[in-house]
Amino acid sequence: MVPSLPLPEDPLQAVLDVLRCGQRFLVCSHTRPDGDSVGSTIALGMLLQQMGKRADLVSADHIPTIYSTLPGVESIRTVQRADGPFDAVILLECDTLQRARLHGLQSFFQINIDHHATGRPFAHLNWIDREAASAGEMVYRLALAASAAITPAMATCLYTTVLTDTGGFCYGNTRASTFAFAHQLVLAGADPIRIARDVYFSMATSRLLLLGAALANLKREGRLAWLFVTQHDMIRSCAAEEDCEGIVNFALSIAGVEAAFFLRELADRSIRVSLRGKGQIDVASIASRLGGGGHRSAAGCTLPGPLPRALDEILFHLRPLAAALVPNRA
Ligand code: AMP
Ligand code: MN
Ligand code: MN
Repeated sequence: MVPSLPLPEDPLQAVLDVLRCGQRFLVCSHTRPDGDSVGSTIALGMLLQQMGKRADLVSADHIPTIYSTLPGVESIRTVQRADGPFDAVILLECDTLQRARLHGLQSFFQINIDHHATGRPFAHLNWIDREAASAGEMVYRLALAASAAITPAMATCLYTTVLTDTGGFCYGNTRASTFAFAHQLVLAGADPIRIARDVYFSMATSRLLLLGAALANLKREGRLAWLFVTQHDMIRSCAAEEDCEGIVNFALSIAGVEAAFFLRELADRSIRVSLRGKGQIDVASIASRLGGGGHRSAAGCTLPGPLPRALDEILFHLRPLAAALVPNRA
């Protein structure tokens, strides 16, 4: 076990120093990878390559089809174990070592690069920037500090991280600096129209069938709304795990709703929960109380089944927060 370093004053520089000194790195992110995890993993791999290093890019789960057109995506291998003589493992947007769900990470020097509100200094070197719109934004800053060239392929991956983590520049993490970042990426060769088409207009039919099942289960209660799908719905729709992405937003899109959640029954009957807010309710506080985490307006956790019990548990935590809100116009 490598001893923890004291929190560095300039974590970006400290990360860069480790990258410069080492030769071979493992790069990974969280399970059920999203646009930010996939894009930031590939872009960091490309940066390391430019620095003359060897980067092994891995994920415990397979890459969702909507990200399969990202340049360099084939360099991410789906593995369950970290195998190799790595100088360090780099975990992107994980708030614990367990979020990567890879065996064998403990024996390496760990670098944690995260932008979650629930980010924690669990690694030997921790760079947590809760202001960054995506982990990709942090990789971009690392690349600039390393004087690396932002190639069109890197720009495409990085643009995908910020597009998806801001929900198409809609969520509360969208700042003036987010547009400046996106602007730089488009100048560097990211094609926003093609990327939007790949991410938002390339859905599988199974996803829409599953959405139909979820909408049939939509419930509204004052400032809250929720929907769910059972294993039966998943099977009937021929849906894959990735088809669940974004379904929660349909409940959140209702006028007057301040927080929404989506429950999905997994094959082992446990319940995967996606929580979203419009800003007034801190859904990360609920997710972390229930063993998960995330951002103020987008968080998640997994609860034991059956589904009605998980639903009660979430409502038990959410109802008081919704009741405490000032009355609205809806
Ligand atoms: P999801 O609803 O799965 O899209 O997750 C929403 C946000 O919460 C993402 O930023 C996730 O990285 C984060 N998140 C989801 N589940 C967890 C968890 N168990 N622990 C920490 N963060 C989580
Ligand atoms: Mn993520
Ligand atoms: Mn992210």
